[in-house]
Amino acid sequence: MHVCLVAVSPALFAAPEVRIALPERCRLLTRQYFDLRVEAHGLTDTSASLTLRDELGNDLTSRFGPADEVTADNDPTPGDFDKSWVFRAESYPTEGIKTIIAEVRDTSGTSGNDTRKIGVQRFKTLVRPTNKKNLILFIGDAMGQNYRDAGRIVSRSTGGRFREGFFDDLLEMDRMPYLGMVMTHSLNALVPDSANTASAWATGNKTVNGALNAFPDNNDWRGTPAAQLDNPRFETLWSYLRRLHGYKTGIVTTAPVSDATPAAEGAYTIWRGQQDDIARQFVDGTFTSGPVFDVILGGGRRQFNSRFDQRDLLQELVSLGYTRVDDRTSLNALAQHEPPDRLIGLFHSDTMTVTYDKLGHLRPADESSTASSAFPDQPFLEEMTARALATLSKNGSPYILMVEGGSVDKQSHGNQAAGTIWDVIELDRAIGVGRNFARANPKRPTLVLATADHNQSMQVLGVVDSTVPGANGNVHAEDPYYYLPGSVGGFPDYEDDAATGYPRNDNRYRMAVGFRTHEHTASPVPLSAEGPGASLFTGVWDQTDLFFKMARVLDSDTTKLDRLEKERLKLQIVDQNYGE
Ligand SMILES: [Zn+2]
Repeated sequence: MHVCLVAVSPALFAAPEVRIALPERCRLLTRQYFDLRVEAHGLTDTSASLTLRDELGNDLTSRFGPADEVTADNDPTPGDFDKSWVFRAESYPTEGIKTIIAEVRDTSGTSGNDTRKIGVQRFKTLVRPTNKKNLILFIGDAMGQNYRDAGRIVSRSTGGRFREGFFDDLLEMDRMPYLGMVMTHSLNALVPDSANTASAWATGNKTVNGALNAFPDNNDWRGTPAAQLDNPRFETLWSYLRRLHGYKTGIVTTAPVSDATPAAEGAYTIWRGQQDDIARQFVDGTFTSGPVFDVILGGGRRQFNSRFDQRDLLQELVSLGYTRVDDRTSLNALAQHEPPDRLIGLFHSDTMTVTYDKLGHLRPADESSTASSAFPDQPFLEEMTARALATLSKNGSPYILMVEGGSVDKQSHGNQAAGTIWDVIELDRAIGVGRNFARANPKRPTLVLATADHNQSMQVLGVVDSTVPGANGNVHAEDPYYYLPGSVGGFPDYEDDAATGYPRNDNRYRMAVGFRTHEHTASPVPLSAEGPGASLFTGVWDQTDLFFKMARVLDSDTTKLDRLEKERLKLQIVDQNYGE
């Protein structure tokens, strides 16, 4: 009896421990939705009460409350009373630094508290709809600097254009005038995954690896679907612009559309593996009423029409007015001058066939084809991009579009060099479509960005002579790294294929690459920018800044800033292409 009292009584009089579940350096736009979750443990019982205050001590509880969800027994500690309050879809109407103090009092009469600050950036209401700008965000999944270099060397050295070390021809993304470097670390790891990195630009906040626009809470240890889908969330820029500013929204990818990178524009879960629910969220909406996107193009048909809940999401979208296409032929049959209002095209049950295999090129002996007899007629990313832009810009609407080359990463995980590099080239051709579309439609200015979500370990090593027996242009992570059979000096001699516009891979001198691992790396990734406000994107900065920079450009008059471009042109250096 005595021992028992000694053990229990300190807990009886200890103050409750309180945590406001918001990530480090939480930032929002005015009117951007977020969920506020307060977690308390060490309580005498679960009748404890919560008071929310500002920095002056003013009671904010009624401003937020009542809580949408109140739960007990969330954390894994047995014999400890805990309680959580969740306030859904909150927002701040004004800019500034906002303080939230959460104070929890239990029946012992003691209380504990936690304080968090939130930085709120103003997003001006755009009075004149003609002022609204478009945004196209191109993502090469894992397309770090070496991947861009590899894409340039293979696709731009053709026809003798690589002369004495000079390139006459740059990639589309290289031609964009401004370049920045973006740090991609996740909330809990130096090396990120594709879910948290996309969440960073989609919402402006960091989260843990594997999470989409949601951040950790104290019941994640359960691992159940309910626990994965109840986490506090930040609204995405796609949802925000659609809900408040009349933007058309779209995602285009070669991955399943419910895969991490495209999912992050419109879905919310602590675990990216919830792909059926991600597809459901696209259709049902989370902060929007109804679908969050006007255009969805990519792979992943399975999550739409072969689902655990028997819903046919494709059919549902068709009944909501979406035009459905299932293959390249029907996509390209859509009239460019009279596009559909809304467009859904899922061209594969899973990840789409990669560029190299769509071209019908013969894979090197150490790589395997992704060609599928079930899906013989799949479009190229540039074709999907063209149709997406035509649909989104119909009737002069402003739009925001994310276009992803998804298999740069997927092929790189398997150290499949040809698969990876030709996918970089495919994305670059899509970037060309986006840049041309922006130039051809100057009435509404378009910011074009091209970057990666994170890096991977491929490096450009040199050149091999493919006629040398045992020549190896692809050093896998497991191979010794110091010896490159068939290595020669000089330059590669790739040729374009007139029929496809892509380089062939049957030339003698080929670029050699090496992979250090099968995984992502922690290096920052380059970002190229063109269009209104593009000079804001220079320097070295965090991936969460991308969200606030994009928002800043969309809600600001960038005319003065953009005059800098004219001044830059006046200071051009002498052209190295002096007459041939
Ligand atoms: Zn990956």
